[in-house]
Amino acid sequence: MANLRYKRIILKLSGEALAGGQGFGIDQATLQSIAEQIKEIKDLGVEVAIVVGGGNIWRGVAGSAQGMDRATADYMGMLATVMNSLALQDALEKVNVSTRVQTAIEMRQIAEPYIRRRAIRHLEKNRVVIFAAGTGNPYFSTDTTAALRAAEIEAEVILMAKKVDGVYDSDPVKNPKAKRFTDLQYIDVLNKGLGVMDSTATSLCMDNNIPLIVFNLNEKGNILKAVKGEKIGTFVGRGD
Ligand code: UDP
Repeated sequence: MANLRYKRIILKLSGEALAGGQGFGIDQATLQSIAEQIKEIKDLGVEVAIVVGGGNIWRGVAGSAQGMDRATADYMGMLATVMNSLALQDALEKVNVSTRVQTAIEMRQIAEPYIRRRAIRHLEKNRVVIFAAGTGNPYFSTDTTAALRAAEIEAEVILMAKKVDGVYDSDPVKNPKAKRFTDLQYIDVLNKGLGVMDSTATSLCMDNNIPLIVFNLNEKGNILKAVKGEKIGTFVGRGD
C-alpha cells in the first residue's frame, strides 16, 4: 500500500458541494469530479465512507423559519440527503467504484438500512459506503452524523470538504485580510465559534478524539494529499 497516513476515513460533503457554481440542486460535472477524486484514494486502498448533507435542496431551519414544524422540516432535510446520496452513488458507479448507500431511516426499496457491522464489512470489502438520512433524528445535522458515524466505524479522520482552503479567523470571501489557521484545537472551535462544524458535532469529535481536516474540495488532488498526511487546509484535534 502507498504511504498512507489514514486507512479509514469519513468524507463529509455538504449538499452545496454537489451544486457546483449554480449554488442549488445537483451538478453532474461537479459530481463526476468528486467521484474521480474518491476513486483515486480508493485505488490506493483507503477505506472510504461518505456523509452527504442536503443544504443544496432543503434545510430544516429554513423551513421552520417560515413557520413549518421543525421536526417535519428536518425530516425533509434528511430526505434531501438521500437524493444527494443516490446521485453520488450513481457518479461513483460510473467510474467503477463499488458503493452501498445506507439510510438512517429505513427505505429498503432504494437503499440498505444503516447497520454498523454491515457498513464496516462493506468497507473491508473495498466498497464505498454512503451514509444517508443523517442520524435519522431531527434537530441534528449531517456534521453530527459524520462525527457519530466516524466514532462508530472507527474512522481515523473526518475530511471536511469546504469551498475555502481551511478555517479562517473571519470570512475570507468578505475580508481579504482574514487569517487561516493551520492547526486548531476543538475547544478553540467551540470558544471562538469558528465555522468548522456545529457545536454538537465538534463536541462529539472532541469527546471521542476524532481529528478533522478542513480543506478545499475544488482544488483537485486535495483528498489524496490529506490521506497521505500532507499538510493541507486546517487540522483540528486535541493539540497533543
Ligand atoms: N437533518 C436532520 N438530522 C440529521 C441530519 C440532517 O434533521 O441527523 C436535516 C436538517 O434539517 C438539515 C438537513 O437535514 O438542515 C440537511 O442537512 P445539513 O444542513 O447538515 O446539510 P449540509 O449543510 O451539509 O448541506
